[in-house]
Amino acid sequence: MAWDFETDPEYQKKLDWVAEFIRDEVEPLDYVVGGLDIHNPLWKELIPPLQQKVKDQGLWATHLGPELGGPGHGQVKLALLNEILGRGGLGPIVFGCAAPDTGNMEILAHYGTQEQKDAWMTPLLEGRILSAYAMTEPQGGADPTALQTTAVLDGDDWVINGEKWFISNSAEASFLIVFVVTDPQAAPHQRASMLIVPTDTPGLETVRNIDLRLRGDKNASEGYLRFTNARVPRGNLLGDQGQAFAISQTRLGGGRVHHAMRTLGNVSRAFDMMCERALSRHTKGEPLANKQLIQSMIAESWIEMEQFRLLVLRTAWRIDQYQDYKKVRGDIAAVKVAMPGVLNRIASRALQIHGSLGVSSEMPFVDMIVSSYTMGLADGPTEVHKVTLARKILRDYEATDDLFPTRHIPKLREAALAQYADVLAKHGANA
Ligand SMILES: Cc1cc2nc3c(=O)[nH]c(=O)nc-3n(C[C@H](O)[C@H](O)[C@H](O)COP(=O)(O)OP(=O)(O)OC[C@H]3O[C@@H](n4cnc5c(N)ncnc54)[C@H](O)[C@@H]3O)c2cc1C
Repeated sequence: MAWDFETDPEYQKKLDWVAEFIRDEVEPLDYVVGGLDIHNPLWKELIPPLQQKVKDQGLWATHLGPELGGPGHGQVKLALLNEILGRGGLGPIVFGCAAPDTGNMEILAHYGTQEQKDAWMTPLLEGRILSAYAMTEPQGGADPTALQTTAVLDGDDWVINGEKWFISNSAEASFLIVFVVTDPQAAPHQRASMLIVPTDTPGLETVRNIDLRLRGDKNASEGYLRFTNARVPRGNLLGDQGQAFAISQTRLGGGRVHHAMRTLGNVSRAFDMMCERALSRHTKGEPLANKQLIQSMIAESWIEMEQFRLLVLRTAWRIDQYQDYKKVRGDIAAVKVAMPGVLNRIASRALQIHGSLGVSSEMPFVDMIVSSYTMGLADGPTEVHKVTLARKILRDYEATDDLFPTRHIPKLREAALAQYADVLAKHGANA
């Protein structure tokens, strides 16, 4: 019997260390360092020593197996870790497992040449640089077959033209992995390739950084980027020409589930705040927690959070079992679809219970709610993932030729009576 809902005691000790470390040393940095700012002297002084402590604990970049330079704890342990890291802004950076770097490390590890790994993956893995992943374009994102940025070979260079936008962390990144059309006449899913593009490449400019955070994060960097005859060497092709769709699936599968793991941390943070406030705030002579409508919010939130946690953990477990993202595409789509709704509903209830304080920028609920919409868009919109999941589910079913459904009660009854006709006759039972 292999079902087990307990954490191995040795790893639990590590998680306890992480929870304390995040609470005491990492979360306070949100108020000191702000967002990503790797070149800021303050960042340079504060972040690397914390990263070293994580390395000393053997918890650095645990999303990667030993062959790729990580300890290879697997996705279930990563889920438990990421839930804690998701509670604070800089946790994933301090633990070497922040998006979009994790996905980029994975594809460099899978598809990169030794030269590419040395130049880009190693410094990324060591936390010395950051990276970004550039697929979405202003004219369309949900349908990757409609992407238009091109790269054409000219001598020993790829020449890139086009625009990308909503590129997370592009302002801080040393390089981008860019989805480009290289073979426009090929079948839709073989038209595109991936190129590694250093961010200081001439011809690559930032049109602007799009600020989606309501509190106006000064470091917001969802970059709107333009390539005008930007040249990179032929050797910057990642994987084979025409392989971009396959590479992006490798990358996005893991990325989506890692987002869900961290979102669970955000959800549990909102839930904890909701419970504390319900117990602390009084109205009509008693704590909010005594009001049945508030109790209903708390009970529903707990159930939704726990359902989501189990779905995330089961998906992580299946990734560990199969080691093949194709086999867990449906599970990952389900997690991706569930994530925005759970965060949205629980953060909204927490906001409501906090009254006017809840809508202010003195509490994090509005950011959480905006982030719930982000989670329903980044790495593909919810609608697209519902379609993926439904298609996958329906593959296991068959249509019936009969006018009435297989489980139509009159038909079942008729068959049952025929099956037991002798016994019924013996007992004089009347159908
Ligand atoms: C915070 C944030 C960070 C991001 N980071 C990155 C990044 O680092 N790199 C990157 O490349 N991209 C990034 N993105 C972009 C993201 O992947 C796209 O926003 C997403 O793929 C949707 O593309 P779109 O915005 O162009 O929406 P559109 O393609 O215009 O779709 C708009 C809406 O139409 C609906 N829709 C679309 N397709 C279907 C369908 N098949 N069936 C039914 N309804 C549908 C959905 O409601 C969808 O939200 C980021 C986005 C956000 C918000």
